[in-house]
Amino acid sequence: MDHLCPVCNGLLDLREACPLCSHPLDDSGRLYDYYGDYSPYREIEDSKLSNGVPDALQHRCLHLGWCPNCSEEHILAVEEWDENTLFRYMQAASD
Ligand SMILES: [Zn+2]
Ligand SMILES: [Zn+2]
Repeated sequence: MDHLCPVCNGLLDLREACPLCSHPLDDSGRLYDYYGDYSPYREIEDSKLSNGVPDALQHRCLHLGWCPNCSEEHILAVEEWDENTLFRYMQAASD
């Protein structure tokens, strides 16, 4: 099974705090959905991935969080779930 993003699949809400002010961020959606496939932002992100720390970013789904306090968007890397994590979640949900 592939890894899946719990936020994209509606299993979890995006719950992250603003890195600047710690205000809870609103979920603005998935980064690539938001900007589209042909946006220059895609190239920036791709070059970041190849020049930076690709291992640390594997199985991460990039989301946009909006901070109403700062009026700023922040890119959030949501950790994707593997089969075991999903299984544990399903078990916990059925109790
Ligand atoms: Zn996602
Ligand atoms: Zn903020």
